[in-house]
Amino acid sequence: MVLLDGTSCSEQIRQEIKAQVDAIKATGDRPPHLAAVLVGSDGASQNYVAMKERDCAEVGFDSTVLRFKDDITEQELLDKIAELNADDSIDGFIVQLPVPKHIDERKVILAIDPNKDVDGFCPENVGNLVLGLPSFVSATPNGIMELIRRYDIQTEGKHCVVLGRSNIVGTPVAILMSRNTKPGNATVTLAHSRTKNLQELCASADILIVAIGKMEFVTADMVKQGAVVIDVGQTRVADASRKSGYRNVGDVDFENVKDKCSFLSYTNGGVGPMTRASLLQNTLKAHQRR
Ligand code: NAP
Repeated sequence: MVLLDGTSCSEQIRQEIKAQVDAIKATGDRPPHLAAVLVGSDGASQNYVAMKERDCAEVGFDSTVLRFKDDITEQELLDKIAELNADDSIDGFIVQLPVPKHIDERKVILAIDPNKDVDGFCPENVGNLVLGLPSFVSATPNGIMELIRRYDIQTEGKHCVVLGRSNIVGTPVAILMSRNTKPGNATVTLAHSRTKNLQELCASADILIVAIGKMEFVTADMVKQGAVVIDVGQTRVADASRKSGYRNVGDVDFENVKDKCSFLSYTNGGVGPMTRASLLQNTLKAHQRR
């Protein structure tokens, strides 16, 4: 079994991006600039945004974080988004989700200029993805495809089962795997909580991509011998032995599944770092489009 090393792949991507940023700076142009909007004091969201700031610094991007209290009104937030849309010094921005309950997440996503939507959540970007037109592909599905590409995993004609149909992972990755591209050209089944015979279905997959958020849900009997398994799931469990006080557990029962796989991407050091690198790739793309 080959463990897909998202950490080293993402490091490689960051080095490639940094080289491009150096070349941009050498021409006298300003570097790509990513902004992040953070509402409230959710610990996980603060961590994600801090990581994005560090990633930007590492590759030479400019970054700006706009922090707002929980009680910002929906209209105030929409006004800030309009300002970011109009700000020529910013190539792309993200609004860290979730936003507080009194703010309609859909309105927030719809307010973002699709040309600056480096998260790839806007309907225009999702629609272009479906049509195979240039678009910002959201970071996690893009990171999964990049991992598959960099390990030269064969996908053409394979049966790919995607478990989980979220707008940010399962649905876009199912579309990408089914497209006439490389990687792609797989025959895709998109499964979810209402799918019948999940065990047989998963066991028929040459490639199994799991994004459901249920700890160790995929057991050995659900995996075909020699399958490629990509575990996107991340559930935090308390762990006093860690500095952070928690560890992430994937959707796949790693210990029991690992010997059946040809390639396996586990929650730690797999898709997570690739997701972070993809946001940088999208920001560079936004700068190039400008
Ligand atoms: P989500 O919005 O939490 O939705 C979960 C999906 O899983 C839904 O489509 C749901 O089906 C399906 N599901 C739930 N229980 C199921 C079951 N017992 N059998 C079959 N399907 C089931 O999904 P998400 O936002 O994509 O997150 C999924 C996981 O990926 C989470 O652990 C999240 O933390 C992780 N994640 C990781 C990254 C990363 O960078 N590594 C990025 C994003 C997400 P229904 O639609 O029928 O309800």
